[in-house]
Amino acid sequence: MQQTSSRHFEKAVFLDRDGVINHDPGNYTTSLQEFDVLPGNISVMKHWYDLGYGLIIITNQGGIDKDLYNESAVTAMHQYLQGLCNKAGFAIDAFYYCMHHPDFSGKCLCRKPGSLMVEKALHRFSLNPKNCVMIGDRDRDVLAAEGAGVRGILVEVNAGLTTVNIN
Ligand SMILES: [Mg+2]
Ligand SMILES: [Zn+2]
Repeated sequence: MQQTSSRHFEKAVFLDRDGVINHDPGNYTTSLQEFDVLPGNISVMKHWYDLGYGLIIITNQGGIDKDLYNESAVTAMHQYLQGLCNKAGFAIDAFYYCMHHPDFSGKCLCRKPGSLMVEKALHRFSLNPKNCVMIGDRDRDVLAAEGAGVRGILVEVNAGLTTVNIN
C-alpha cells in the first residue's frame, strides 16, 4: 500500500485504476507518459471526497511481475495522480496494488478477483462494507468487491466516472 491518509471516513468509494481513473490503452499502463486521467474524473472524485467518502484505489499491476515496468514507475503514476487531486483540493486516501502475475509468481491472494486488497482497506479504515462501493471496468473488479461484501458497479472501459451513480 502507498500513502495512507489519517482522515476519518465511514464510507468509501473503491476504484479500479486502469480504464476507470486513467485511459486504458488496451494493455498495461507502463509509464507516467502513458498515464492519462479520463476527462471529468478529478471533479467527480472531489465531489465524492467532499461528501465524506474515502477514496481508495485497488489495482492489479501484474506488469511488475512481467518486468514491463517496476514499482517505482507505479509510484510515479500514483504520485502524479495524487498531485492532480491535491491541486483540486483533495486527496486519494490509499493506493493498493497487486504486483503479482500467476504466470510468474504463481497464485496470490491479492490479485483481483481475489478480495484481499479490499479486505485490507476495509480493516485499515475500519469500514463497514455495506457503506462502501467499488467501481471497476471488469468482472473481476466486481467479484473482488463482492468477495469482501462490497457492492460492485461495472462501468464501460474508459467511460470515466462522470455518469456513475454511487447511491
Ligand atoms: Mg481496469
Ligand atoms: Zn498479488
